[in-house]
Amino acid sequence: MSAPRQIVFLGPPGAGKGTQAKRLSHHFGLGVCSTGSLLRCEEQRDSPLAHEIHAYLKDGNFVPDALMLRMISTWLTDQGAEFVLDGFPRTLAQGKALDAFLEETGRSQAVAIWLDVTTSEVESRVSHREVCDRCGNVWPRDEAPKQCPDCQGPTGPRADDSVELFRSRLAEYEAKTLPLLPYYRQDHRLHEICGRGSPDEVFRRILTALDS
Ligand code: ADP
Repeated sequence: MSAPRQIVFLGPPGAGKGTQAKRLSHHFGLGVCSTGSLLRCEEQRDSPLAHEIHAYLKDGNFVPDALMLRMISTWLTDQGAEFVLDGFPRTLAQGKALDAFLEETGRSQAVAIWLDVTTSEVESRVSHREVCDRCGNVWPRDEAPKQCPDCQGPTGPRADDSVELFRSRLAEYEAKTLPLLPYYRQDHRLHEICGRGSPDEVFRRILTALDS
């Protein structure tokens, strides 16, 4: 049987969801959506929506489900049947809404990849990383270029990677995202992947799990 190609990534901030989601999308030739990038991009505009988004992101809080659902269903509507999502769903309500949306639009249910990384490891990664503002590429701080080699965007620390905001994001994850694990596990749609090690090692584990 071929590997499933409706894939969502779950995991704490700094687990490597963005990095692995991009790799998987290149590997299978699928569209990928990072909801964090989508929100940060929208936040740059001068619009009521941008101000609304900013009010949540500046405190490390999740944006409301209804707003996120509007944005993601627009993105999914423009996609073919297959996709990779980085950062959606992030709440049980979002997971159920995604299932309903896929069913209504005649698509297969998504499988979830959960990147399991300890809190101390993600805290250390996030406090030592720089990112590309434009495409979300990530580097350890001492290896970060001044300009992203892929999209020429500016690189630097992410505003919400400060210790305080990281802790708020982690608390949101524990309270709101962890309940998605039993939801996907009960239907045998959850791949639990050890997120330790190099990006190559983690990617190999993901491919093996999807093939099984
Ligand atoms: P990380 O996974 O490292 O926390 P992201 O770039 O995926 O970072 O997301 C940044 C922020 O955007 C999140 O902390 C949250 O506030 C918001 N966000 C992203 N995706 C969602 C979502 N599906 N629902 C609600 N808020 C979201």
